[in-house]
Amino acid sequence: MKLKQVSKSAWAVVDGSTYGNVGCIRLQEGVVVIDTGMTPPIAKEFRELILQEVGKPITDVILTHYHSDHVFGAQEFKNSRIIASSAMAAMYTQLLKERWSPSGLKEMVKYYSQREPEFRDKLRNLKIISPTQTFEKSMVLGKEKEIVISHTGGHTAGHSMVFFKPEHILFAGDLVFCQQYPYAGDPTNNPVDWMNTFATILEMPIETIVPGHGPLCDKEEIKIQLTYFKALETWIQNQLQKKYSLMKALENKDTSPTAPYMVKADPRLESTIERWYHFYSHTDS
Ligand SMILES: [Zn+2]
Repeated sequence: MKLKQVSKSAWAVVDGSTYGNVGCIRLQEGVVVIDTGMTPPIAKEFRELILQEVGKPITDVILTHYHSDHVFGAQEFKNSRIIASSAMAAMYTQLLKERWSPSGLKEMVKYYSQREPEFRDKLRNLKIISPTQTFEKSMVLGKEKEIVISHTGGHTAGHSMVFFKPEHILFAGDLVFCQQYPYAGDPTNNPVDWMNTFATILEMPIETIVPGHGPLCDKEEIKIQLTYFKALETWIQNQLQKKYSLMKALENKDTSPTAPYMVKADPRLESTIERWYHFYSHTDS
C-alpha cells in the first residue's frame, strides 16, 4: 500500500490495495480521511501510514457512499467522527435490518471469500460502524472552511463528494472510475443526478481528481464519461420508445454506444442497462 502525495496537504491510495481508493487531507486541526477501504486490516494499514507520514491525529472520516469497498474498514476509525449524508445514513438503517444483519453479513462474507479467499480472515471481525454526524446537502470542515462535502447522489442515492478548496483537489468517490468502465447498476443509481454532478464538477476550479477507482485524473476523464453517459441515455430512451422489453434491450446491448475502457462482455454493462432501463421507464426525462 502506497500513500501517494497528491498536493501539499492531500494524500491518496490509488494503487488498488484498498479496493475502493482512500485519501486524506491535513488541516491545522487534524487529518480528515475520505473512505476506509474494503476490510479492517486494510484500514489499519492505511491509518498507520497516515500517522507515520502525515503525522496528525485523525479527527474526521467522510464516507462517500455505502458500498463495502469504501466503508468496511470504518471500525479502525471508530474514535473519529464518521460523517455521511443523511440519505446514506438512512440506507444504513435499512441495510442493518437486511443485507447487513448478522445473518446477512455472514452470507456476504461467504460470497466475498469465494471471490477472494483472503477476505475470509480479513472480514472475520467485521463490525458495521454507522455515521455519527450527518448532513442534508452540504457540510464544511476546517477553520477556513477548506473542505466542502456535497451530497450529489448519482452512483448511489446517498453519495457525496469532497472538495479541498485551497489545493483544488476533488475526492470524487465512485462518481469517477478512472480508466475503467463505471459501476452504474446500483438499485439507487440515478443517471440524471450523476450527469448533473459531472456538469457541476466541470465548472469547479479543480486540478486533480482522486477517483473512487483507478489512478489520479483530471476533468478530461469527466468529459469522457459524460459523453458516454449521454450516448447511453439516448440509446436507453430509444429502446423504451420502441417499446422493447428489458430482455429485448439486453439482447440489443451490442448496439449500445461504445464505452471507453470496457473489457469485452463486461457484466457491468448489463447491470447498467437493467438499472437505467428501470430508471428511465419511470421518469419523463
Ligand atoms: Zn461504489
